[in-house]
Parts: sequence; structure tokens; C-alpha cells
Amino acid sequence: MARAEFTALGGGDCIGNSCYFFKVPKGDGTFYHIVVDCGVAFDAGTMDAPGQTYIPDLEILNGIKIDLIILTHAHADHDGYMPILVRKHPEAMVIMTEPTGQILAVKLEDVLKIAKKYNRAPLFTADDVEFLFEEGRIKTLDQGEWASPFENDPHFQISLHPSGHTRGAASVLMRTLAGNFMFSGDVSLHDLPTVLGATIPVDFRPDFLVTEMTYGGHNQPPRKSEEERFIMKVEEVVGRGGNVLIPAFAMGRATDVALVLAKAGLEVYVAGALTFKMARLFGSATWCDRDVKDLSHPNIKFLREGDYDNVINGQGNIVIASSGMMDFGWSSTFAKAWMSDPMNAVCFSGYLAEDTFGKRVSDMKPGQKIRVRNHKTGETESITLRSEVYEFCFSAHADQTELADWMLALSPSEIVGIHCERPGYEALSKVLADRGFKGSIRLGENGKTLIVGYEV
Ligand SMILES: [Zn+2]
Repeated sequence: MARAEFTALGGGDCIGNSCYFFKVPKGDGTFYHIVVDCGVAFDAGTMDAPGQTYIPDLEILNGIKIDLIILTHAHADHDGYMPILVRKHPEAMVIMTEPTGQILAVKLEDVLKIAKKYNRAPLFTADDVEFLFEEGRIKTLDQGEWASPFENDPHFQISLHPSGHTRGAASVLMRTLAGNFMFSGDVSLHDLPTVLGATIPVDFRPDFLVTEMTYGGHNQPPRKSEEERFIMKVEEVVGRGGNVLIPAFAMGRATDVALVLAKAGLEVYVAGALTFKMARLFGSATWCDRDVKDLSHPNIKFLREGDYDNVINGQGNIVIASSGMMDFGWSSTFAKAWMSDPMNAVCFSGYLAEDTFGKRVSDMKPGQKIRVRNHKTGETESITLRSEVYEFCFSAHADQTELADWMLALSPSEIVGIHCERPGYEALSKVLADRGFKGSIRLGENGKTLIVGYEV
């Protein structure tokens, strides 16, 4: 008799380098070996010293034949080490949605380009990327499709269910002899401009749920009121002739924010080649009924090489640029040009990690000095912060109440929380217990194997 096993190899009791290993009993004393996601975590470092990259602990997989590798969505903390995992385990079938595959291909190419530009050793090579995308290696699943990936085993079935969050993102559903398993991936339950919130699967109830708990510890302001506060602030700044810089993550957030402002009647400029490619992909690569199909708007203008000087030196301009934390890319260049003028404003649209340039700016008082880099020339200079600085919460993750409502509706017997820190997990566990949840709840700590599911 055997039960299933679950081990977080990264991104368990922390956020970043997500990688999760399932052993699912076949019923004959042996197991299927399944890995979900393989990402990286970064700290940005300082202006003088490059940051660190953290990869998942793949040692535990040495010598094991991996049957399936599944990617939930194309964000670096879930996919950034995927080419190496697949290279180490070429025997595995790789499963993802079609948009995730398309976005992944563009992103990995960009990672290699940036590494070359800054003369840094990338984690993987162009050859590894080519290997990942070799004909026949990746199997994509449509919404609602159930696949039986193992010949002669009708008891094991797998499906991908839309999880909101970003284009192509999916939860993993597995029907097995040891019970029904659901792995949430990153999940948003409220609607975003580019993708609507996740729904409960109609033909599947999980016995065992592994879920992200990024915001298990607190609730977020309602999306609508946060959008209104954001639009009002941007209108106020451009109304007085100031410029607004909105640093935004290229992978979806930039498109989301551009649509919010464009639909409010404001003309916005979007900077950067990757942001442009992603916006185009989000507009064309759709796979489920939760995808918002038409993302074009006449108020959204993509900046071309020759436009930048005019916009930087102009007045009343709104620019959305990556990176979201202003450590590199066009957002750092616009910051250098605009942050020393009190007419202007920087409006952060997402999470700011510790030790990033954006976090330092958000903690500063007007009149303080900071060194800024021009990403085109690499030059740094010291400027005095005089512009206004605001933070807005446009999270693409479910918050505490949304997660609790969703988990209670899914009604599993067992829950394992991942992609979170212990205080958030504990707070959410208490909310679930207070609301009458009777099943077991555990934290999926990195490196610790949990026994789950039914005996087979
Ligand atoms: Zn994500």
C-alpha cells in the first residue's frame, strides 16, 4: 500500500524559485514522478554589485525518471530554470498551455539577449532553449481537455484549468488512483483587464489541494476603487503639465495598466521592445473563455526608437515602462530624467521587493539623493528626488478572503499551502478554521516531504 508524496524543491514556505515534486502511486507499488514549475528568485543587488539568483534544489531528482513536467504559467519565479530541468530530464513529457509556451519562448530569448548585453553568464544556453522547444517535447492542452498521458493507464488523467493571474495561466487537475489532486499555480479570483478571474471547475472536486497563499495574510483594496484612485492621480499630474512614469512588469502588468488608463480617456505611451512583444502576444495568444480577447485601444501608443527624446523632454506625458522595480530597462532611464522635477510623479503599479531601486525610491523623502542608471548608456549619476511617488495595489493574486472563499467552495479534505511565508499561511489557516473548514491544512516547507492522498 502506498500514498502520494509532495515535496517543495523551492517556493514552498517562501516566494520565488517555485518547483514542486509529486510522487503519485500507480497501484503496482511504483510511482509516477511529476514536477510542476521550475523557477528562479532574484535579489536585485545594488548599483555597484550584481544581485544573486536562487534556483530550486533539483538534487532530490537525481537518478529519478521524471514522467511529467508541467508549467503553470510563464513568470520567472515559475519558469526561469525550466530549460535546465528539461535538459536534465529529457525523458519527461512537458505539459503547458499554448499561450504559456509562446510567452516562454519570447522570454527565454530575451533572458539570453540581456545576459549577452551585460556580459553575464546565463543560467542556460540557446542550445538548452532549443532542446526545450524541440518538436514533440511539449504537449499543450486546451481548456476542458482531459489527457491520459500514460499508455495503458486510464486511471491517470490530467487537465489544465484557467487560473486567471496572467495570459495562459492554469491550475493542474489530476485524477489518480490516490484521489483527485489540484495544484493551483498562481491564481487570481478577481477580473484583470487582460484575463478574468478563475472559476471553480465544474466536473472536478479535489480531494487534495496544493495552493499558493501569497496574500494569505491580508486583504487587498477592491480593484475598482484602486483603479479610480490611480486614474485620479494620473489625471491630476498630467493636468498640471507634469509627466507620469509608471514602472510595470512587462509580462502582463504593463498591458493591464495601459488598458485601465486608455479606457479612462488618457493617452499612454508604452516603452520597451519586450513590453511591446508581450502586449502583442497577449492580444493574439488566447486559450480559454477567461481571456479578454481584444486588447488594442487607440489611446495606447508604443514608443519607437526615434520617439524617446521627444517624450522624455515633453510635458503631460504618461509612460508605462519595464522593469517594474526600476532596476533596469526604460523605467530606470525615465526615472533618471523625471524624478528630480516636482511637477512629475512616479506611480508604482506592483510589488516592490527589498533591495530594489524602486523600493529605495518608495522609502525616500523628497530632497534626498539617489544614484540612477541610464540603461542605454550604463552611466549612473546622483539626482535629488523631488517628484511625487505613489504606490498602487494591482495584484494579480487572490487575497485572503478570496482564497478562503475559493478553498471552501473547492472543499478538499487536505490543503497544503505554498508560495507564501509562514505568517500568511497561519493567518489563512485560522480564517479557514473559523469559517468551519474541517480538513487538514499544512505548510509545504522547502525540502520536507508530505504524505498526501488516499492509500492505494
Ligand atoms: Zn505568477
